[in-house]
Amino acid sequence: MLIVMNHEATDEQIEAVVKKIRDHGLDVNVSRGVERTIIGAVGEERKLEPEMFDPMPGVDYSMHIVKPYKIVAREWHKADTVIDIKGVKLGGPQIQVIGGPCSVETQEQMDLSAQFVAEAGCRLMRGGAFKPRTSPYAFQGKGVEGLDMFRRAADKFRLPIVTELMDVRMLDTFLEYGVDVIQIGTRNMQNFDLLKEVGRISTPVILKRGMSATISEWLMAAEYIAAGGNHNIIFCERGIRTFETAYRNVLDVTAIPMLKKETHLPVIIDPSHAGGKAWMVPALSRAAVAAGADGLLIEMHPNPCEAWCDADQALSPAELKNLMATLRGVATAIGRSA
Ligand code: PEP
Ligand code: MN
Repeated sequence: MLIVMNHEATDEQIEAVVKKIRDHGLDVNVSRGVERTIIGAVGEERKLEPEMFDPMPGVDYSMHIVKPYKIVAREWHKADTVIDIKGVKLGGPQIQVIGGPCSVETQEQMDLSAQFVAEAGCRLMRGGAFKPRTSPYAFQGKGVEGLDMFRRAADKFRLPIVTELMDVRMLDTFLEYGVDVIQIGTRNMQNFDLLKEVGRISTPVILKRGMSATISEWLMAAEYIAAGGNHNIIFCERGIRTFETAYRNVLDVTAIPMLKKETHLPVIIDPSHAGGKAWMVPALSRAAVAAGADGLLIEMHPNPCEAWCDADQALSPAELKNLMATLRGVATAIGRSA
């Protein structure tokens, strides 16, 4: 951390800053320039915050020099992290597509979905049993019964399951049902208690980007999970809120190279919640893979018109199959496979 004193700072004011840094167990390096003095705090500076120094007399401003996140940072872990989900490797050369309905509805719908997901060549399956809906009167998900239906359907095709956890009180149930990947949804990206709880287990976590979250806030949210010991974190960009109203959200493709630079963890894209329209999903998926995404989270329903949730963005089984074939071509063009 650097503390820049203003040009009128007195020796007493400089001494007070030095003492505060030492009181926190860090060393100090004082650099007296012609116009101003700069004080460097040397050591584990993440313990310090600019707000500890900014209000002190004689201080102009202060700032961190290291990034506030560490475990998730590429700076400290150069190699890409590959997450093994029951033998399916996410983050390596092979692109993984997680297909399935927005929500779990019936056993028949889940059985058909699992069959179509497997037939299309996807190696993981999605489906929400607990749904974060804008309206309290909308379908809220089948709950635990939904987890059971999902598990039965996916097991027939040996597909690992991805499903959203909204409430820490359901975590034990998720573990009982052997949920393979826990999804933390957009609306919970900064639910820090939830992040801490999934940080205490080892189940892989998909951390969706908050709809108005900055890259730095998103990385810090992941650091919460990592700080608890769970390093199996997958970032998922799902579109952000902007001034545009022509589509549901704006897919931030720029986030892919940015995250790839900042973190060693896998990055996937959810084109379904980004565009909000099934016809946009193939184009956004191709863009995501071309830009370096490690995987995709795609909504597919056996009968999209009848979907209980997000019907307009669900691919049909045939559309998912076609998309998978196209993605193989894009992946090959950039030296990967799908
Ligand atoms: C979902 O994937 O089912 C979902 C609710 O997505 P998001 O949290 O991105 O809105
Ligand atoms: Mn959905």
